[in-house]
Amino acid sequence: MWYVNVVRKSSMRRRTFLKTSAAIAAAAALPGCKAPDGGVYTDDLVLDWRPYTGQLKYTFTIATYSRTFTPLVLVRLRWRGFNGYGEASMPQYLGESTESVTAFLARVAQEVLPRFKNPFLMEDILTEVDALSPRDTAAKAAVDIALHDLVGRILDRPWWQLWGYDAAKTPCTSYTIGYDASDDVVNEKIEEASWTKVVKVKLGMGEKEDKRMINLIRAKLDTVICIDANQGWKSREMALDMIYWLAERNVCLIEQPMAKENLDDAAWLTERSPLPVIADEACQRLADIPRLAGAYNGINIKLMKCTGMREAHKMAEMARGLGMDVMLGCMTETSVAISAAAQLSPVARWADLDGNILIANDCFNGMRLTDGKITLNDKPGIGVDPLKPFEEL
Ligand code: MG
Repeated sequence: MWYVNVVRKSSMRRRTFLKTSAAIAAAAALPGCKAPDGGVYTDDLVLDWRPYTGQLKYTFTIATYSRTFTPLVLVRLRWRGFNGYGEASMPQYLGESTESVTAFLARVAQEVLPRFKNPFLMEDILTEVDALSPRDTAAKAAVDIALHDLVGRILDRPWWQLWGYDAAKTPCTSYTIGYDASDDVVNEKIEEASWTKVVKVKLGMGEKEDKRMINLIRAKLDTVICIDANQGWKSREMALDMIYWLAERNVCLIEQPMAKENLDDAAWLTERSPLPVIADEACQRLADIPRLAGAYNGINIKLMKCTGMREAHKMAEMARGLGMDVMLGCMTETSVAISAAAQLSPVARWADLDGNILIANDCFNGMRLTDGKITLNDKPGIGVDPLKPFEEL
């Protein structure tokens, strides 16, 4: 399916004509805004979107369900001959769907974009997008990523550079080994992870099963392990015992050990833990961070839960300002959202940006891994190229 929304100009009465002419003149005065193909364009911001199915290479299983694909929506934002690309990823448990995302994008196209002729007004545009609804964070992220890509392309600079970061300081990404009750299946997953420098392991199934997973991995791999307990450990004493056991097995961090609501127990555990304790489910957006300082050592930032690059950048800088570590995470995503998150990776101590290598039909070129290390390119915006014209993806 192919959707397009063009913001139509109202009839050219004199007042409208003068207003429009003034907007075009203001935009034309901005540096570096000449259309790349020399064409003549209006200053309308034009949003297009396409539903896309991310086919998983391996069936993803957690306690409650299994899935073989993830619904995605790819987005393009155009202005004066420049294109910016964005993406929403909607894993089932987060409550967004292709229908909710496309309905939200239609509202952005109709209610927000017609009032802006200047894409550099990113704060105003994205504040208005955020104000459209209390949730829809993946849909908001799609617009945010496309706008960042667009503005970066107009300025001819990548975002890691516009933010003043050193591309040499990127971390290695981890690669996730999910839980499975079968030793044979876990051993297969360990084989598939043999290339990575950092393995992320999903635990929280109970002490016996958690130790079985780690023992299976340690029998074959000596790489560093990040643990994600996904709120699964039931008491702080049990969690502390597990962390001491894991600390002797080359584990570097513990993500969301207990229920996200329980800050007192998180603070008790963090104070005693020999390993850094990171908030994931407990940390959705910027406003969550101040109350987490002291209860956790760091936060896991994901574009799809925090509405995109603008807020992710603010979250990373706020966390650093509060002396907290930054981790970058993702959903199952194409190279669009992964490359967008990777722009922040020079200030992340850890990165879990393996979403694009978990799908079989990535439709963009973007951030690459060199021996597991995130390698940012010099291309403008978020540094991606579609493998086919957008209309054919
Ligand atoms: Mg997590």
